[in-house]
Amino acid sequence: LQDKLNKAIRTLKGSGRITDVNVASTVKEIRRALTDADVNFKVAKDITDQIREEAIGQKIVIAVEPGQMLVKIVHDKLTELMGGQAESVNLKGSPAVVLIAGLQGSGKTTFSGKLAHNIKKQGRQVLLAACDIYRPAAIAQLQTLGQQIGVEVYAEPDNKDAVQIAKNALKYAKENSKNVLIVDTAGRLAIDEAMMQEVENVKKAIEPTETLFVVDSMTGQDAVNTAKTFNDRLNFDGVVLTKLDGDARGGAALSIRHVVEKPIKYMSTGEKMEDLDIFYPDRMASRILGMGDVLSLVERAQQAFDEEEAARINKQIRQNQFNFEDFYSQLQQIKKMGNIKDLMGMIPGLGGAVKDVDISNDSFKPIEAIISSMTLKERKNPDLIDGSRRRRIATGSGTSIQQVNNLMKQFEEMRKMMKTMNKVQDGKMKLPPMM
Ligand code: GDP
Ligand code: MG
Repeated sequence: LQDKLNKAIRTLKGSGRITDVNVASTVKEIRRALTDADVNFKVAKDITDQIREEAIGQKIVIAVEPGQMLVKIVHDKLTELMGGQAESVNLKGSPAVVLIAGLQGSGKTTFSGKLAHNIKKQGRQVLLAACDIYRPAAIAQLQTLGQQIGVEVYAEPDNKDAVQIAKNALKYAKENSKNVLIVDTAGRLAIDEAMMQEVENVKKAIEPTETLFVVDSMTGQDAVNTAKTFNDRLNFDGVVLTKLDGDARGGAALSIRHVVEKPIKYMSTGEKMEDLDIFYPDRMASRILGMGDVLSLVERAQQAFDEEEAARINKQIRQNQFNFEDFYSQLQQIKKMGNIKDLMGMIPGLGGAVKDVDISNDSFKPIEAIISSMTLKERKNPDLIDGSRRRRIATGSGTSIQQVNNLMKQFEEMRKMMKTMNKVQDGKMKLPPMM
């Protein structure tokens, strides 16, 4: 996935604005990346169509390349499509009633425990109701969890009527002044009419404040169909996406949201009672794209890059006056942002020029040392730096004359490249593809 997006980005590199031409192939790649992350094909198409419209014509922020900018746009779009903000459950009412529905094994019972634990920590009185009457172990499972987190569990082991148990649990909750009742229900391995009817009846009987649909993120495309079927019957209020501690990309979150238009409210990332997370659309967008690094790079670049200084350096470049002072200033900006190798490409002028030059974090220190050993006059006027000055600089910076020569050579190449760029731009000629 990362490779695909990188490829998509490469096709975009270099232009100052996102255009129809350079966006087309990128959009295609993004669509593929989304389907790879288990986003439903139709959903992926809808989304990329929207993204294309919004991206075209956007101006590229200085210090960020168009491809990276587009990734940011895609990320922001996905975040928006998943609801933007985290949404919490409605716990108003006395008691508030939360109904938990979903297929068997999706994580309903585990989630019920986690939610109860979470609410209890907020200082509220919680009651868990065991309405899975089909598996003998189900009641015991909930009771064990209840003991573990110190929450009372309402159960009627001999009663085979889930609706009746739910009603009795609600009555019990009222009588014992509980603030919240969480009703854990039964599920089947696949959707079947009897199960649907039962959970629908439970819902009618107890009129929950909040109905949550629990779905296993590992089930990929199936998750969307299951969500749709449940929503048609239950008109649920929110979704809980479980087992995100595995390697599911989380595309299900996007598809479900898009298809049933209900918010994902929680994500579950483990079997421990503490592993309950509020669903944050922006984090999920990063996960779906698998582009967390690039995104934070773009954000860091936007934050750390001093726009005024960048404008000043651009002017120097335009006037063919780029010198070691400017170079040093650029290096400092890069250092502020973090890993140099990842970041080189983001610097206007510098990015293209040093693309093929091997600069790693380690080769960074001698460069700084060498520039520091130059006099201000030398930095501003690199042509002054002749053989004897180079020897002096090498000794002063604790480097070899070879290293100084190398830097001078690289610097000269950069300047040449910048000059060519200027000429090309002035003459409105087509830029060489590498830029
Ligand atoms: P239910 O049939 O819907 O009630 O599902 P359970 O709550 O019994 O969960 C089924 C299995 O999935 C159990 O082994 C749980 O421990 C496990 N499980 C539930 N949620 C998660 C999760 O977020 N991550 C992982 N790794 N396992 C989970
Ligand atoms: Mg269960």
